[in-house]
Amino acid sequence: MRVLILSDIHANFVALETVMADAAGRFDTIWCLGDVVGYGPAPNECVDFVQAQVDLCVIGNHDWAVLGRAGVDIDYFNPLAREAVLWTRRQLSEESRDFLNSLPAEPLEPEGVGSVLITHGSPREPVSEYVQTPTIALENFSYFQAEICLVGHTHKPAIYRWRLRENRDRYSMRGRRNGTPVTVDFLIPCEGQCMRLELTGQERLILNPGSVGQPRDNDPRAAYALLDLDVLTWEQRRVAYPVDLTQSQMRVANLPRRLIDRLTFGC
Ligand code: ZN
Repeated sequence: MRVLILSDIHANFVALETVMADAAGRFDTIWCLGDVVGYGPAPNECVDFVQAQVDLCVIGNHDWAVLGRAGVDIDYFNPLAREAVLWTRRQLSEESRDFLNSLPAEPLEPEGVGSVLITHGSPREPVSEYVQTPTIALENFSYFQAEICLVGHTHKPAIYRWRLRENRDRYSMRGRRNGTPVTVDFLIPCEGQCMRLELTGQERLILNPGSVGQPRDNDPRAAYALLDLDVLTWEQRRVAYPVDLTQSQMRVANLPRRLIDRLTFGC
């Protein structure tokens, strides 16, 4: 099965449409790692898309905050993110709200595809934790059993590779499991790179496809990934979209200037 992996769409429907055109014909199913809304100008359009097209989706911290649920306190959001949350709350249709409310906060394990876990933040703290260092990744590998864990939330494409043996890479974190040396390598996938996943029992992976709607790795292009579970590959994709179109929609919506400008730089 070929899976299109989307994450952190953040109500950027222009970016989402561009990604869908780029990925056309290359997948059998779609999974989404959360944060469908927040920041961007088109929350209902993005929720409608996810509801109609996406087979599996978990809730993200922005989705959660927009619903006003206990557990994610928007006082901890930065003032601009908070403003966007409040704006999104006012825009959401009843149907969109119901759909976001139906999304699971616990990690999902898709049936019939082997050993995969889907979460927004991390296995340890599914809605809120950022897996952004080899140390945090190493700790999280003991919170799940699957061979592959898909995460979003950081808005940066990344691969963390856990191995049941030590190596000496510069960007590795070393630990132990039942006395056996364990290494976690941190890799930044190159655009278009199709990486073979070596799932021999000696290796496990945490994979992050980056963000469709608000990349933060200094590349403004929309990010997504294609996971082929038959031949076991992970292809990192980047695609330029008309950023100015999203930005003009944000201006019309009166969203904060800083949130509009950051899309130009992907930061
Ligand atoms: Zn996000």
